[in-house]
Amino acid sequence: MALGSPAAPAHAVSSASDQAPADVAWQKTLRRIGQTNFTEHDPAVLDVEAWADYWAGAKAGAVFISITGILAFYPSNVPFHRRGKYLNGRDFTGELLEAARKRNLCAVARYSPDLNWGDALAAHPEWFMRKESGEPLESEEAPGLYSTCMFSTYMTDYFPAVMREVNSRYDMDAHYTNGWPSFMLPVCYCDACRQLPPSRTSAYWDKFNERFTYLWKLYDSLAKEKKATSFYINNMGGGVHATPNLAMLGEFCEWFQGDNQGRNRSDAPVWGAAQQGRVCNAVLDGKMATNLTGAYTTGPIRWREVTKAAAEAVIWTSQTLASGLVPYYHVVGGEGGLGEDLRWEKIGRDYFLWTARHDAHWVNKNTIANIGVVMGQRTQLFYEPPHDISMQQYMDAIYSALLEGRFLFDFVHEDRLQLERIKKYAAIILPNIALLSDDQCRQLGEYVMQGGSLVATFETSMYTEQNERRADFGLADVFGIHAAGPVIGRPGNANPYMARIERPHPILDGFNDTHWIAGAEFRLPLKPVENPVLTVVPGYTAYPPELSYPLIPRTDEPAVVLRERGSSRLAWFPGDIEPTMWLSGQTDLSRLLVNTIQWVTRGETPISVEGKGLVEIFAWETEPGFALHVLNYTNPNTYHGWFQEFYPIGAQKVRFKLPPGRIVTRIELLRAERDIPFHAEGDAVEFTIPSVADYEVAALYSAKSNGSTGSRVDR
Ligand SMILES: [Zn+2]
Repeated sequence: MALGSPAAPAHAVSSASDQAPADVAWQKTLRRIGQTNFTEHDPAVLDVEAWADYWAGAKAGAVFISITGILAFYPSNVPFHRRGKYLNGRDFTGELLEAARKRNLCAVARYSPDLNWGDALAAHPEWFMRKESGEPLESEEAPGLYSTCMFSTYMTDYFPAVMREVNSRYDMDAHYTNGWPSFMLPVCYCDACRQLPPSRTSAYWDKFNERFTYLWKLYDSLAKEKKATSFYINNMGGGVHATPNLAMLGEFCEWFQGDNQGRNRSDAPVWGAAQQGRVCNAVLDGKMATNLTGAYTTGPIRWREVTKAAAEAVIWTSQTLASGLVPYYHVVGGEGGLGEDLRWEKIGRDYFLWTARHDAHWVNKNTIANIGVVMGQRTQLFYEPPHDISMQQYMDAIYSALLEGRFLFDFVHEDRLQLERIKKYAAIILPNIALLSDDQCRQLGEYVMQGGSLVATFETSMYTEQNERRADFGLADVFGIHAAGPVIGRPGNANPYMARIERPHPILDGFNDTHWIAGAEFRLPLKPVENPVLTVVPGYTAYPPELSYPLIPRTDEPAVVLRERGSSRLAWFPGDIEPTMWLSGQTDLSRLLVNTIQWVTRGETPISVEGKGLVEIFAWETEPGFALHVLNYTNPNTYHGWFQEFYPIGAQKVRFKLPPGRIVTRIELLRAERDIPFHAEGDAVEFTIPSVADYEVAALYSAKSNGSTGSRVDR
């Protein structure tokens, strides 16, 4: 895990922040990454000097240079590493590396171990993934290429041979594999995989993680054979969908490559890069992480060499920066990249050069957040929701409520629920985290005993970490609840249940002129509790309207269970209210969630940002002091398509509580590039961001307070 020698490569120095101390690992000094993803044709058409000039001119600190594994960009002698057909004996990799070095750019070698050709298949049938029928898995998009199996000797013989050849020829700063592991757990019937448990099981996942770790450490050791500061990384995109155990990965990875390049569905919300950032922060303890912005047309229909709308690229890259990751701009192929469509060039260069003017403010120390949201990687991988909804949409649903409430939150991995890690949060949210081990339930109980608050929904803790269903909730004692039977849904298009208001409570703020509010589509019924706030009115026929009336208008089945234990507040929703809210658009449910999170946190927050608009907020302790990032999602394309332009929002009034012993000396808006006045009193500063077009960062320059914390400063 340690880098050995802490010294940065000589060429990294000029790309580093001026403030970077000498003992910081080289990758931690990078502020911008650039990648032209080379095609086989590029040796015939790409202007190497123009390529290097672009990335150096945009002040990238590192570039990715292709080696590959599918085809070689240099005259490889490794059997089955076929030379690209436009290479004509050239060492294209070497030329790119030399051009990058001349401009003081760090260089990461890019490989692709996921596919190889028919001649390799004929010679080494054991290298390849197999269908259940025994047929090799051929690429549908690129016939003639076959998927290699991570459990085969392809990964331990062929691929190390390529890495060793690269070490013998080039001085690369790090080594990166694309294409492996995939974002879905592999399903393979090769001889090696037939010895493993079935693919979509928790037992398989253990084997997958074991093999993943073994290969990672093997490749990392090969990287270090060349030099101690080098290391291996791979493609970890997909937000909550990464396949390896991310808590495990966080222990040994030096650089988290979040390959989440743009919205991948036409109905994907805009916040994918920010969510990726929160996933990285959950496991990395401040280590290097990037997320890619595809300059090209990302989405359900892709044009690899046609530029996407500038506003979409800007909001995506801004999310990367706001969430504490290093922006990374990615273009495919020299023809798209420097030849036919040049629109991407200005978008990336302008953004990068803006960030370069404010580099000191992107060096983050800690997030400022009072809420932890459990991301539930096992639940994401193995749980099967009753809704026709992906687990990504499940996560987007709770995310949208958190944005609506303008909460400051971090993601928390379920393997990192130790009290030492989570005690900084006033509340932990468990959005249907169905799979939790006994130990994880015990940790949450310990957190509650220490005064922490919880919000949980639906089937949270109904399954063990092995995906075995429990008879009762793992968290039954913590919440004082018991399951009363199997999950209840609704037949056809029947009305879901409704929640009858039994007595006033702060979680019901804003629900006037009604005796009931919307419930959820599915619920796991609970045994009655004393003095409930909401009870279930069971669902009933929606059509014909003649029959659309509640057959059972009143029950004692709770629709929420609220408890107070010491300073801890607990809220349990038996319904799967997040996906119901996401699918229906029912605003009762998001309001109920927002009110409940406010109730369990007692309305307290380290930073409040008040104003109109849908925004996402991040706050960091930084080198100069603090930074408050406000992303403006107020846009007709927030939930569909791409941003085409920005719709500025008006004044955002901020109250920012400072840690003891700190004062603020200056506040600068980094997007507007001007200072703003502020008012300090006691332990807080107040200021107004007059407007936010796409994104704004309020940089708070801070000093120690000389002990007089009550001092009053007006600027
Ligand atoms: Zn296999």
